[in-house]
Amino acid sequence: MQANESLRDVLIVGGGPVGLFAAFYAGLRGLSVRVIEALEQLGGQLVTLYPEKYIYDVAGFPKIKAKDLVANLITQAQTFQPEFVLGERAEELRRLNDGTYEVRTSKGVHHGRAIIITTGVGAFKPNTLDRPGVKEYEGRGVFYFVRNPEDFRGKRVLVVGGGDSAVDWALSLEPIARKVTLIHRREGFRAHEASVQALFASGVTVKTHYELKEVRGDGRRVTEVVIFQNQTGEEETLPVDAVILALGFKSDPGAVKRWGLAFEGRYIKVNPRMETNLPGVFAAGDAVFVEGMGNLKLLAVGFGQAAIAVNSAKTFLDPSARFMPGHSSSMDLSQKTR
Ligand SMILES: Cc1cc2nc3c(=O)[nH]c(=O)nc-3n(C[C@H](O)[C@H](O)[C@H](O)COP(=O)(O)OP(=O)(O)OC[C@H]3O[C@@H](n4cnc5c(N)ncnc54)[C@H](O)[C@@H]3O)c2cc1C
Repeated sequence: MQANESLRDVLIVGGGPVGLFAAFYAGLRGLSVRVIEALEQLGGQLVTLYPEKYIYDVAGFPKIKAKDLVANLITQAQTFQPEFVLGERAEELRRLNDGTYEVRTSKGVHHGRAIIITTGVGAFKPNTLDRPGVKEYEGRGVFYFVRNPEDFRGKRVLVVGGGDSAVDWALSLEPIARKVTLIHRREGFRAHEASVQALFASGVTVKTHYELKEVRGDGRRVTEVVIFQNQTGEEETLPVDAVILALGFKSDPGAVKRWGLAFEGRYIKVNPRMETNLPGVFAAGDAVFVEGMGNLKLLAVGFGQAAIAVNSAKTFLDPSARFMPGHSSSMDLSQKTR
């Protein structure tokens, strides 16, 4: 038996766009990879903050929706089958006596021979609501994400929120759920105009100026909610099986600050090879300040930094390896990318 079965060549902390590209690139360089992401979904700011917006400055894509770019990045990363660990916030980083690293998360422990930090603006946490029943039924009828729409097949669902996620999830569940109701505390929606139009044209029951008052259940699962009209105070009880709170996210840059890394303001200091002050620990993307350059929070820059960080990690792990891997066009990836 191996001394440590959880040991991977590279642990990538942060499954945003830069972490996803780093995962692909590390696979290209023959490294085993585990990606640790605080949220239940991959994609970082692109899916949490602006999934429906178009991006115009990613090389090779004259125009692409943020959520579509993430879908492509996931497909590309999967070429080499990295492991994705979702819903775990990395909290501690420790170098062990054998030179490998241990990352402790909110739920477990992971080991890597090298670390690439791509934590962007920090760990995203979904906003919650301080209402009776919400905490009690988290994961048993109260959710913050739709990971698999099939989980809601045939159910009565209440979606709370007026942003892109709320509207998108309501629309994607409407054909498969028994009933979908969306409540939003204001008249106006933050979601993309076309999605809002589609929402009102769909079978989703939309109630504006309504808020959640209470989630009730039978002790095991959610059975109903109480909602109220915030102008008149009038209350309504709806029988539901699931409540999806789509109320946005806040980011927490906290944990990484305690890992013994050198910082420039809120950014991790790296040299042009994306090396931090800790041996075998690299960083890329929105999280970094590059010596002699500073911080340029753009996808195109982050993707380049991911490639540099991986090539640096490769030569750290195998000093006989070349920094320049050769061209992907010269490698036979046809079996992997069909
Ligand atoms: C509204 C908006 C529009 C934008 N438009 C453009 C554009 O048009 N073009 C462009 O180039 N850029 C644009 N950007 C910037 C671009 O989104 C960022 O540069 C990019 O998201 C950075 O990617 P990243 O992977 O470094 O970080 P992030 O996208 O922030 O991803 C970091 C990931 O790490 C996770 N994480 C953080 N801490 C931990 C932890 N401790 N444990 C586990 N996981 C953790 C987070 O949950 C997150 O998923 C825009 C940004 C915004 C806000």
